[in-house]
Amino acid sequence: MPGRDASMFDYLVVGAGFAGAVIAERLAAGSDKKVLIVDKRPHIGGNAYDHYDTAGLLVHKYGPHIFHTNSRDVFDYLSRFTEWRPYQHRVRAWVDGQLLPIPINLDTVNTLYGLNLTSFQLEEFFRSVAEPRSPVRTSEDVIVGKVGRELYEKFFRNYTRKQWNLDPSELDAAVTSRVPVRTNRDDRYFTDTYQAMPLHGYTRMFEKMLTHPNIKIMLHTDYREIESVIPFGEMVYTGPIDEYFDFRFGKLPYRSIEFRFETVDRPVFQDFPVVNYPNENPYTRCTEFKYLTGQEHQKTSVVYEYPCADGDPYYPVPRPENTARYREYHALADRTPHVHFSGRLATYKYYNMDQVVAQSLTLYKKLSGLRRPQPVAQPA
Ligand SMILES: Cc1cc2nc3c(=O)[nH]c(=O)nc-3n(C[C@H](O)[C@H](O)[C@H](O)COP(=O)(O)OP(=O)(O)OC[C@H]3O[C@@H](n4cnc5c(N)ncnc54)[C@H](O)[C@@H]3O)c2cc1C
Repeated sequence: MPGRDASMFDYLVVGAGFAGAVIAERLAAGSDKKVLIVDKRPHIGGNAYDHYDTAGLLVHKYGPHIFHTNSRDVFDYLSRFTEWRPYQHRVRAWVDGQLLPIPINLDTVNTLYGLNLTSFQLEEFFRSVAEPRSPVRTSEDVIVGKVGRELYEKFFRNYTRKQWNLDPSELDAAVTSRVPVRTNRDDRYFTDTYQAMPLHGYTRMFEKMLTHPNIKIMLHTDYREIESVIPFGEMVYTGPIDEYFDFRFGKLPYRSIEFRFETVDRPVFQDFPVVNYPNENPYTRCTEFKYLTGQEHQKTSVVYEYPCADGDPYYPVPRPENTARYREYHALADRTPHVHFSGRLATYKYYNMDQVVAQSLTLYKKLSGLRRPQPVAQPA
């Protein structure tokens, strides 16, 4: 290309998760840009990274990731890099010594109380126990307003307290406002149009996305180690936004999780892919990966999740003061030239994978309308 400095990258992409990998792929394959993608972890894929454990079982290092979306664009885009295994996710909650469907449905209530209600009668039942609140401000308001106090206590209160270390009465309504309550027998966890798992795993899909002559990958590298020595035009930053600005408005709090993996010497461990524990156990849920991956193996691997305060940043804590602090960072990001903030950590939102893919595809449309960027970093 005339005038192009062969040694310069057009883009430095920070983070090789969905946000970074999608934008890197688009810029390289769609606009012939030279892209350097860096990640401080020793692997690509971000939180969706999966790998084979010592027993040879495919596991998700950062907890179970189930792909689901209503967006045909997102599904079609990812289908360029993977075949799919159709998969409908199902979850049970361990309540009063029984495994009951969650989201709550007709079978949940009938089994819990030994009843034989019809869907119509269940609607009446919910109406009789619900305690509608106005205004609906907290997560407790949402659930108690739909299913009443008893089901709230049995299925939601302790789970939420473990997950967030906050009582639902202290959490924004938004956290639980999308929790469905069903009066039919549908026990699927998601109802999206497209529900499937990458046939050979997420990491394989990321490898295909990033295998392009215009893309160079640098792992085990914090972008700060290289930003002043490797010349590039623009940056796409998908790490934590507060970290980028050296926490100048304070730290944005996150909830983390400690994962305890176990390999069990029998083909099946539990009867459902995920069992939730809305009780006093320190873990919130246990996932058996073979249900998700479809792998056949004589052994099986599970993971228990222990929410905690310290560790990798996973869940932005949805409280009004944190949203206000994020807005300050966001305003600063808008005034920062040559840097584009994208993804879950850079926008401080709990996005699902498909939402992050959609965000990066949108960012690509914006960037591909721009003129070729000028260098902002010079070799030392
Ligand atoms: C336990 C758990 C379960 C989930 N389950 C699901 C699910 O079932 N379905 C679903 O759709 N979504 C799920 N998600 C959400 C999903 O993980 C995210 O939507 C997705 O990973 C976001 O991609 P991202 O690229 O924005 O962020 P990430 O995947 O976090 O990638 C960001 C990357 O940036 C790197 N980075 C940060 N700072 C720097 C730096 N200074 N220098 C270099 N690299 C840096 C990080 O190492 C990381 O690899 C789950 C999330 C968690 C935590």
